[in-house]
Amino acid sequence: MRQILEAIQSGASGEEIGALPLPESYRGALVRRDEVGMFEGLDSSEKDPRKSLHVEDVPLPELAPDEAYVAVMASSINFNTVWTSIFEPLPTFGFLDRLGKESVWGARHALPYHVVGSDGAGVVLKVGSSVRNWKPGDKVVLHCNYVDDQDPSSHDDSMLAANQRIWGFETNFGGLADLTVVKANQLMPKPAHLTWEEAAVNALCNSTSYRMLVSHNGAGMKQGDSVLIWGASGGLGGYACQYVLNGGGTPVGVVSSPEKAALLNELGVEAVIDRKAAGYRFWSDEHTQDEGEWRRLGKDIRGLIGEDPQIVFEHPGRQTMGASVFVCARGGTIVTCAATSGFMIEYDNRHLWMKLKSIKSSHFANYREAWDANKLLAHGKIQPVLSAVHRLDDVGEAAYQVHHNLHEGKIGVLCLAPEEGLGIDDPEFRAKVGEDKITLFRRHGA
Ligand code: NAP
Repeated sequence: MRQILEAIQSGASGEEIGALPLPESYRGALVRRDEVGMFEGLDSSEKDPRKSLHVEDVPLPELAPDEAYVAVMASSINFNTVWTSIFEPLPTFGFLDRLGKESVWGARHALPYHVVGSDGAGVVLKVGSSVRNWKPGDKVVLHCNYVDDQDPSSHDDSMLAANQRIWGFETNFGGLADLTVVKANQLMPKPAHLTWEEAAVNALCNSTSYRMLVSHNGAGMKQGDSVLIWGASGGLGGYACQYVLNGGGTPVGVVSSPEKAALLNELGVEAVIDRKAAGYRFWSDEHTQDEGEWRRLGKDIRGLIGEDPQIVFEHPGRQTMGASVFVCARGGTIVTCAATSGFMIEYDNRHLWMKLKSIKSSHFANYREAWDANKLLAHGKIQPVLSAVHRLDDVGEAAYQVHHNLHEGKIGVLCLAPEEGLGIDDPEFRAKVGEDKITLFRRHGA
């Protein structure tokens, strides 16, 4: 891998990079099949990714004709790596075993270890025989929609494909590693004005927020819409705020500290609610929700923007869904992609049907959506929300930070990149976009 890194850093040509020998093994962050029971009997919050995530050398898998090897310069922590590392709601080895039964190439994935990670920025090292649009030396970012394009169900919206998977979560050989194996249709051009770590943190959360708000597959946001955004300074929320601002809407950001509120103000979000300071108790006990508290949130939103939100950007799940359905405007949409605080959801259906509201489900993004979201980054219209950077050896601590909500935006992970700040190919465009805008979250996280 050292030779590969030196070639990348010295600006070697695509031919030179393509001629380099591939390593027999590479460093990856993984969980082990024989450890899936290690946290039995513990509460979620006690399950510690620092104990279950290991950084080890693993053998290089063979390359399928529609795949590419990519040298990963940087990656990021997503919540799915937290789920994998605490073996909740299920150990991910079941996903790998199912993929293993699908085809000869799928069988490579069913291993005693799972290399995790669903984001990455790096350089193509080699492409399979059927890859047309990419070649060694291309600087790329990786999106995580892993689709079998021989399946007819993948040919309308590929997120509807019967065997759609998330790379590095439902497949092996993920991005938290020095090298990864991806399908060619996961590759997108790296925005030239960003560093490796700035480029690496976006694809999963940025594309998800794009589909939820901007794509015709999502909530159908239009100019003038007000949007309540839970976790507005988090991974998904940091991009959601930017999409609402760019789209001529009014974001109402919910956060849990004055520091996060200040960060949102600097991003341009004027209406911010600190949920901790407000002390909402949507659940009075484990089984009972308090409509009075939903009403109090609704009043607070009206106090800030003078109306109910047409769209609610949902992902906390059980703790907030009752309130989200209640505060959403008549005829509005609650768009949801997750349930961090619990997936068995309760809301009062009368507030949904009597006021003609809709709940719209969303999950990651198809290639076209991921590509369009990446284009906005490349054009400087959406900024990365990188707030902290860890080394691959420290991946357990990075996942721990996300597990315990100790971060803002996204945590980047340096894989092959020896230090922060490398990989900028277009400094003039970076200056035009503005260093302050690009590094807003990083300055707050520092
Ligand atoms: P994140 O960076 O941890 O941000 C989530 C934010 O939600 C936190 O910063 C926190 O903000 C807020 N939050 C957490 N628990 C809450 C609660 N009980 N009530 C209200 N707010 C709460 O995570 P993320 O990357 O944005 O991901 C969020 C969720 O979406 C995760 O479950 C993840 O797995 C899922 N996800 C799904 C997809 C998909 O394609 N389906 C894609 C990406 C992520 P404050 O404390 O500041 O309020």
